[in-house]
Amino acid sequence: TLSDKLSRAMKSLRGQSRLSEKNIEEALRDVRMALLEADVHVQVAKAFLQRVKEKALGVEVLNGLNPAQQFIDVVYQELTAIMGGQAPERPLDMAAKPPTVVMMVGLQGSGKTTTCGKLAKYLKKNGHSPLLVPADVYRPAAIEQLHVVAKDAGVPSFRTDSMEPVAICKAAMQEAVLKGWDVVILDTAGRLHLDDVLMNELAAIKDACGPTEILFVADAMTGQDAVRSAGAFHEKLATTGVVLTKADGDTRGGAAFSIRHITGTAIKFVGSGERLDDFERFHPDRMAQRILGMGDVLTLIEHAKDTIDEKDAERMAQRLVKNQFTLEDMRNQFQQIQKMGSMQKIIGMLPGMGKMKEQIESVATDKRIKHLEAILNSMTPRERQNHNLLDARRKRRIAAGCGRPVHEINQLLKQYLQMKKMMSQMNNPGFMKRMQAMQG
Ligand code: GDP
Ligand code: MG
Repeated sequence: TLSDKLSRAMKSLRGQSRLSEKNIEEALRDVRMALLEADVHVQVAKAFLQRVKEKALGVEVLNGLNPAQQFIDVVYQELTAIMGGQAPERPLDMAAKPPTVVMMVGLQGSGKTTTCGKLAKYLKKNGHSPLLVPADVYRPAAIEQLHVVAKDAGVPSFRTDSMEPVAICKAAMQEAVLKGWDVVILDTAGRLHLDDVLMNELAAIKDACGPTEILFVADAMTGQDAVRSAGAFHEKLATTGVVLTKADGDTRGGAAFSIRHITGTAIKFVGSGERLDDFERFHPDRMAQRILGMGDVLTLIEHAKDTIDEKDAERMAQRLVKNQFTLEDMRNQFQQIQKMGSMQKIIGMLPGMGKMKEQIESVATDKRIKHLEAILNSMTPRERQNHNLLDARRKRRIAAGCGRPVHEINQLLKQYLQMKKMMSQMNNPGFMKRMQAMQG
C-alpha cells in the first residue's frame, strides 16, 4: 500500500538533514509506484510528483520537522490540494429562482438511481423538498426502481405516461413550481459504453432544463474507465461536479484523485454502500489521509481535544523542541494518556508512527503504566526534573516507597532515555500545528 511505501520512503530519508534532489529521488519513486497501484492515471501521477518535488525542494526547513516528516507533509498537502483543498461550505449550488435542477449522469450501473435517492434524502434532511424524476425511459425497471428509491427516501417522484426524456423533465419542472418542490433531481439513462446518441439526449435535457448542477456519477471500483468517461461527459456536458460511488470497495481512492484532476470539478459526495444513508460529503483532506494510509487522524484530534489541556500540550511541545523532556513530563504524559484511553489505540491512530507504536507497546501496556506512574510518584520533584540525580541509594529509597523492584526503576530510566531520544527525533511543533490546522 501507499502507506507502506511511504514508510519505506521515510526510512530512506531518516538521518538526512535536509531534502535534496538526490535524497528524495527514491521517495518519489516509491510514491509514484504507490499512486499507480492505487490506480492513479500515469499522467496525473507524473504531474503530481513534479509538484511535490518542486514543493519539497522549495520548502523552508520547518522547525521541528525532520526531512521525512517534511516530505510526507508536502505529499499530504499536495494530495489534499489536488483533490479540492477545503470542502466548500455548501456542496451544491442552488438556483436563484427555484427549482434548482440537478442532473445525474454517468455510465449504466455507476449508481445514478441510487445516488438520486441518497441525495434526495440528504437534501431533505437539510431542509429542502426534492422531487425525483425518472428520465431513464429505456428500461421500464429503471423507472420503477426510482419510484422505490423515492419512497425509501421519503420524497415524491414524478409520474407520467410520457416516454420522452426531455418532455418528462420539463413537465416535472412545471409540477415542481406548482407544488413548491425546490430541487428537481433528474435520473438520466446510462449506457454500458459512451455513445453519441446518449450524449445528444443528455445535451438536449440540459438545454431544456438549464440544470444548476450536472453531477457525474463515477463508480470508484472501475478505476481508469471511470476516469475516461468522466473526461468525455465533462467535455460534452460541462459537468459541474462528481459523485464517487462504491467507495466502500477496496479501492484506495486513486480514481477520485484522477477524476478530480481530469475534470477540474469538485468531488461533491461519496457513496459508500447500497443503503440510502451510505452517503456523505467529500472531504479532500480525509481522502488524502485514506490514500496515504494516515490513519484516522481526525478522530484522534477530536478525541485529544476533549482530554488534553491545550496549554499543557503547548508547554509540552515547547519542552520537546528544547529537548527538555524530563521524568516529570513523562509522568504528565502517562496521566494524559490514561485520560485518553488505551495508549496503543492512540498511537495507532497517529500517522507514520508504526515504529513508535511498537516501541511503546513493548514498554508500556496499560497495566505497566500504572507501575511506572507509581515509580515516578515516589521520586522527588527534583529527581523528576533531573534524572542524573538517581544514584543507587536514591533508587533503593524509591523502590521501597512504591513497592516495585529496583530493576524496574532502571528499566523505566532506560525507557525514559529512549523516549527522550525519540521525542527529539520527532519533536515537532510543526506536527502539533498541523493537527491544530486540521481542526480548523
Ligand atoms: P445506475 O444504472 O447508474 O442507475 O446504477 P444503480 O443506481 O442502479 O446502481 C447499480 C448498482 O450499484 C446497484 O446494485 C446499487 O445498489 C449499487 N450501488 C450504488 N451505489 C453504491 C455504493 O455506494 N456502494 C455499493 N456497494 N453499491 C452501490
Ligand atoms: Mg438507473
